[in-house]
Amino acid sequence: MAANRSVLLLEREAQPGYYTTGRSAALFSETYGNAIILGLTMGSRDFYKHSPPGFASVPLLTPRGAILLARPDQMARLAAWVDRVRPIVPSVALLDAAGTLRQIPLLRSSYLAGGMAEPEAMDNDVNALHEGFLRGARVRGAAVATSAELLGLHRDGPGWHVHTAAGDWQAENVVNAAGAWADIVAAMTGAIPCSLMPMRRTALTVDLAALGVTAGALAPGRPDLHPAQEQAA
Ligand SMILES: Cc1cc2nc3c(=O)[nH]c(=O)nc-3n(C[C@H](O)[C@H](O)[C@H](O)COP(=O)(O)OP(=O)(O)OC[C@H]3O[C@@H](n4cnc5c(N)ncnc54)[C@H](O)[C@@H]3O)c2cc1C
Repeated sequence: MAANRSVLLLEREAQPGYYTTGRSAALFSETYGNAIILGLTMGSRDFYKHSPPGFASVPLLTPRGAILLARPDQMARLAAWVDRVRPIVPSVALLDAAGTLRQIPLLRSSYLAGGMAEPEAMDNDVNALHEGFLRGARVRGAAVATSAELLGLHRDGPGWHVHTAAGDWQAENVVNAAGAWADIVAAMTGAIPCSLMPMRRTALTVDLAALGVTAGALAPGRPDLHPAQEQAA
């Protein structure tokens, strides 16, 4: 946008990426989320793999592999999910409990019924990605205003009057990219909310090596298949 328009990026915090973007588990998974999220993830793969020259000095995606776990009461749903995503990600496999434990010995076997292995899941260098977009915007002339919480948004002739903690601006168009707060911003314009809500999520990272545990290699290869999948094969 900044290439042919005057763009101002407003950020409430003292630095961009303070919330969700800076706290993501940074996994590129083509089996996670609803159809819209899956479509966005798959549609982004090419960009991540072949980002424009100068966008990032490091690869945006690097191999990782992931396993989604299931208890006995969740196993049928997991198996159905594997059937649904395997046509688009053929390397996905349903594992039984033993196969999952071989990959992640740290887990409690009495809790576990199996897992979905996604060997092609990758680490996403979110910092490089975020910096690439910010640098690209600035190079094209966009201004970034931090500590600039949007407090009010009102129609002003053909455009908008934008009232923020850092001053007021006039804008022809406003793009609402407030993440989990997008409903609050939308409400300033009288738009109908779509039930977005900022919520806490919990993620634990465990250094297996420090605990003396060796994780199984999740490299592509023949995984330990769940009996249902073995049968189908
Ligand atoms: C714990 C966790 C783990 C995740 N792991 C993954 C993962 O592994 N892989 C993956 O693909 N995705 C993951 N996600 C999701 C991913 O991080 C988000 O989809 C993505 O970061 C959303 O980016 P965003 O720019 O829309 O939102 P945000 O990064 O939240 O940016 C919105 C910005 O708007 C600003 N803002 C809000 N209101 C105002 C206002 N009134 N005025 C000015 N500024 C305002 C906020 O300060 C914020 O900086 C994870 C999310 C969480 C929480």
